[in-house]
Amino acid sequence: MMDSQIMTENPLLLPLNKDKTVYDGFITVQERDFRIRISLPPGHQLKQAKLHCCWQLKRLLSGYQPILKQRLHHAPDLVSFILELKTVLELAMRSRPDCQTIPPPQYYSQLITEMQSLGWDKLLFIDSEFRTLKLQGEDSAGRKHILTVKLKPNYPDEAPECVADLPFPFLMSWTPQSTLAHIHGRFLLHLEGLAEFWSALDEIDEQTWVLEPEKPSRADAMRRIAIGNNVSIKVEIDPRHPKMLPDCCLLGAEHVVTPLRTKLNANMHLWNPDCSILQNMRDVLEIEFPSPSTHEKSSLSAECGICYAYRLESAIPDQVCNDPRCGQPFHQVCLYEWLRGLPTSRQSFNVLFGECPYCSKPITVKMAVQKA
Ligand SMILES: [Zn+2]
Ligand SMILES: [Zn+2]
Repeated sequence: MMDSQIMTENPLLLPLNKDKTVYDGFITVQERDFRIRISLPPGHQLKQAKLHCCWQLKRLLSGYQPILKQRLHHAPDLVSFILELKTVLELAMRSRPDCQTIPPPQYYSQLITEMQSLGWDKLLFIDSEFRTLKLQGEDSAGRKHILTVKLKPNYPDEAPECVADLPFPFLMSWTPQSTLAHIHGRFLLHLEGLAEFWSALDEIDEQTWVLEPEKPSRADAMRRIAIGNNVSIKVEIDPRHPKMLPDCCLLGAEHVVTPLRTKLNANMHLWNPDCSILQNMRDVLEIEFPSPSTHEKSSLSAECGICYAYRLESAIPDQVCNDPRCGQPFHQVCLYEWLRGLPTSRQSFNVLFGECPYCSKPITVKMAVQKA
């Protein structure tokens, strides 16, 4: 083993006891010093050495443990191992650019000052590195929203990255004088501008059966609403004009959809921007939407009659049997595969003609289907 007190100039490690089983010191990689301690068993076997690292080092070396273990097993002596450790560390630092740049102390003091003036009650979360913050905001209807702010090491010179559950990206002009309070203020403005949009969607979500999206986020502007058994309407609401007539698309069997479409076209002029979207849709389509208080979701069964699932990858059951007493929906792929397997089906170009698996009335399916 080593006899010298100082193992090498860099890294600088000193034995802490007479038996030289514990070494303590620093290892310098890319101008950063990391505290390190190595303990050896009484027999000085390197294989059983234990490495004690500071948390920064631990974080850097996570994922490299198998390599280190292997090096410990094969290194002829402690000095060689420490040099190998240095090489591994250099590699680790290069592959993790975020670890290379630890912000200067002013970064942290500035952040604390800014949080104090913003109010700590607005802070929901901060990570251990003080890089990612989650700020809380409330809109006029009392809905809570979260803004995730990712700070760059040279904050506030460089603009932080802000992400929130909004129907459009969070945007703000940034100067080095901007602060967290500016970001939060901007966030509240966004929330205020969207309050009416979210109220319109909340009303739909509470009073109707929404088939899609399954779990709407605050960013989702689309809803597919059940109208009846296997009939639905898909609306795309403009977040900036949430009371205007949205883009509508009726889905279901032709015999049900056609009269609804006729009403929609005939009554469109009745759309009243002072009323909510839901009320307007009731008036224009002259229907009552089934709601959770009046209908079970199962009575609006929209599952595919072949695979019994609603969603197949991203596809929904949009092929519907046109027989008025049936109206069973199917996934396009499921229906195509089903008809292809029947000896009675016939194909013409990419269209298959066959019988509905439910009512045996004629049904067709295209491979490349046109959306309604
Ligand atoms: Zn299916
Ligand atoms: Zn049928």
